[in-house]
Parts: sequence; structure tokens; C-alpha cells
Amino acid sequence: MTDKLTNCGRCNGNAFYEQEINGNKIGLCYDCGYQFSSLMTPDSEFLKEQMEVLPEIYKLLLSEDENGKIWSPSFTNVPGRGMVYANGSSRDNWWWEAVKYKKLKVPEVKNHQKIVEKINPKSMKKFDEMNFLDALTYIKVI
Ligand SMILES: [Zn+2]
Repeated sequence: MTDKLTNCGRCNGNAFYEQEINGNKIGLCYDCGYQFSSLMTPDSEFLKEQMEVLPEIYKLLLSEDENGKIWSPSFTNVPGRGMVYANGSSRDNWWWEAVKYKKLKVPEVKNHQKIVEKINPKSMKKFDEMNFLDALTYIKVI
């Protein structure tokens, strides 16, 4: 694993972080917020599965670059901090949304699991397409 940031094949920014997990390459760009996985090729089962579970806006935003790499917006969920995800209605009208977790004063039990925090809707903030890093900073994961 290397901590070196390289150029993003999608937005040409220089904050692309790639790592290898079990022989698969997985990358995330901290400029445009898009991710890439070597498992997700145009004809892969993985892509088919993703198309069944991804939210509509993620399907709309999927894109293939000239090298046949498929890029999708990332989804961040960090317990104790918050979530950052893409939202919107079309490729021309979308944004990053960041929302923070709030600790519950009294934990709730649901399906035998103790819930100690919940999303705080009041903390929800929108960020422009290229301000992904600001969204991560807002929920304090960076
Ligand atoms: Zn990028």
C-alpha cells in the first residue's frame, strides 16, 4: 500500500488514491469524489449487481472513460462522523450531500442491535460537484 496520490483518470485532478485489495485495484479521487474498481468492468457481474442496488442518481452518474474504466460516485459512511453521498436529479443537476451523526442521549434497541447515534437531518449540507473534499472535511473524516 502506498500513500502516494496520483492523477485522476476522470477529472485530471492530482488527488487520486489507489490501493490494491485482494488483487483488485480500488481508487478514489478526493477532487471529484468518483471511485473506480478493477472489478467493475463493462461486462462484469459486479456491474450488473451494482445496477440493481444503486440509487437512481448513482446509475445516472456512472460513466465509462476512454480506457474502458467505469467510474461511479463514491459513498462515504463513517460511524461517529457522518455520511457523504451524491444526490440530485440528472447528470447536469447533482451535488454532494453531507450529513452528520448525532449521539443519542438514550440508546435505542432495534432488531437486537443497540443504536447509539442517528443522522441529524439539520446538519445536512450541499456541496458542488468538485467540492467533494469540503464535504469530507465538513463531517470531519479528513
Ligand atoms: Zn477525479
